[in-house]
Amino acid sequence: MDLYALTIAQAHDLLKRRDISALELTRAVLERIDAVEPRIRAFLTVTADQALADARNADAAMARGHMAPLTGIPIALKDVICTQGVRTTCGSRILENFIPPYDAFVVRRLKSQKAVLLGKLNMDEFAMGSTTEHSAFHTTRNPWNTDHIPGGSSGGSAAAAAAGMCLAALGSDTGGSIRQPASHCGVVGLKPTYGRVSRFGLVAFASSLDQIGPLARSVADCAWVLQAIAGHDGADATCAPDAVPDYGAALSQGVRGLRIGVPKAYFANQGLDADVCAAVLKAIDTLEGLGARIVEIDLPHTRYGVAAYYVIAPSEACSNLARYDGVRYGLRDEAAGELLEMYRNTRRQGFGPEVQRRILLGTYALSAGYYDAYYRKASQVRTLIMRDFSNAFARCDLIASPVTPAPAPRIGAHGDDPLAMYLSDIYTLSANLAGIPGIAVPCGLSQAGLPIGMQLLSGHFQEARLLAAAHAFEQATEFHKKKPELAP
Ligand code: GLN
Repeated sequence: MDLYALTIAQAHDLLKRRDISALELTRAVLERIDAVEPRIRAFLTVTADQALADARNADAAMARGHMAPLTGIPIALKDVICTQGVRTTCGSRILENFIPPYDAFVVRRLKSQKAVLLGKLNMDEFAMGSTTEHSAFHTTRNPWNTDHIPGGSSGGSAAAAAAGMCLAALGSDTGGSIRQPASHCGVVGLKPTYGRVSRFGLVAFASSLDQIGPLARSVADCAWVLQAIAGHDGADATCAPDAVPDYGAALSQGVRGLRIGVPKAYFANQGLDADVCAAVLKAIDTLEGLGARIVEIDLPHTRYGVAAYYVIAPSEACSNLARYDGVRYGLRDEAAGELLEMYRNTRRQGFGPEVQRRILLGTYALSAGYYDAYYRKASQVRTLIMRDFSNAFARCDLIASPVTPAPAPRIGAHGDDPLAMYLSDIYTLSANLAGIPGIAVPCGLSQAGLPIGMQLLSGHFQEARLLAAAHAFEQATEFHKKKPELAP
C-alpha cells in the first residue's frame, strides 16, 4: 500500500511496530505532494525541510520509547492558524508576508505529540467564502474533478486530505467551512462544540462562531486529532474547562437505541439536488438498519439562519478586521502622504472584494440607526435557532441532514452572485449559531461522480456520540474506501 494513503490509525500501528519510520512516511507524503499538488494547489506554503526535521525528531523520540498517538503523523494546517516562524497569510494580500511570533494552541498541542507539520493550506480570504475562489493567491481544485471547486473556506484542507497530501488537516468552521469542503471532497470533517478547542492563535473571523477542527480520511482519524487539540486553555476565555472524554474509546458505541431526528422540511427544500437528497435519505435508512430510531423533528427558525448569519458574521468580522491598519503588522501602503490615506490605501490594496463586501455589510449593520433593525434582530433570531435545537434534542440524540444542497459546483459557477454562494450554507451555519458540534461523513457519489456527505449534529459537548454514530455508519458502508483517481 502507498504510505501516503494510510489512515492515522494504520500509520500509527506501522510506526509502533517499526515497520516504517516517520521519515519514510513523511518522504512518501512529500513525494505525493510533488506529484499531485501542481494539479490541486491545496497548499500556500510547503515546509518540506521542517517536516523532514520533525520526522527525524519523531523517530528519535520513538527510539527512546516516547510515542503519542500523533507522533510521526504528517499533518497540514489551514493558513488561518498561526505558526511561529512560518508565514501565515489567511489567504490575504494584507498578511502575505506575515510571520507569526508564536504558535496557536492547537499547533503547540500537535508539536507536543511530535506530529510532522507539512505546511499551510489554501483558503478563502479570512475564511470568508465557500469555494477557495476568494483566496488572494489561487483557487484549489477538487481532487475528484479538477474543474470543480473543493468547497471552502477550508478547501485546501479538504483537498489535501482527499488527495493524500497529508494524513489529516486542521480547518476552521464559522458557518460550515470544515463540514462543507469535507463533504465536497469525500472526507470526514468535524466542527467541535464552540469552546471545545482553543482559538488562541486562530486568526479571528467571527469570534462567537469560529471553531478549529479536523479533516481526515476516516472518522477514527478525526477522533484522534480532536483528542489531541481539545481541552482547556487559559489563553482563550471562551474555551471550556469541561473534561475531554476518550473519543477513541467511544467510537465503538454505535447507534443502537439512539434517536435520530430528521428535519423533514430540510428534504422538501426546492434547492436540494436530487442525488444529494437520495443519498442522505439512504444513509438515514442505513442508520436505522444499524439500530437507530428515526424521529421526525422540526427546526422552524433555521430557515432564517442564512439571513441571521450574514448579519452577525460580517458584523463581527468588520470589528475583528479593523486591526489590519498598516500600522502594527501586515501590508502597508508606503506611498501614502498622510495617515488616513495610508489606512485607506492599505485596506483597499490588501483586502479582496469579498472581504471588503463583508466589512461594508458589517459596518452598516452595526451603525447607529441600523443596529436595532439588523444586528439586534439577527441576535434575537439566533436565540430562536438555539431554542429550536434544544427543543429538538429533547426528542432526539442526533440530527441527520445534508451538508450542502448540491455537490461541488464548477469553478466560476457562482460568478458575480455572492447570494448564491451564501445560500449554499443553509444546512451548516445553524450549528455555528447554536454552538453545537457537527460532522460531515461521506455517504455517496453524484451521477457525475462527485462526493456527497451526510451531516450529523448533536447537543453541546456530545462529540463522542457524534463520532460513534459516524463511525458506525462509515464501517457499515463503502464510501470512505472510494478515492479520487488522480493518476500521477
Ligand atoms: N461560507 C461561509 C462564509 O462565507 C462560512 C465560512 C466559514 O465557515 N469560515 O462565511
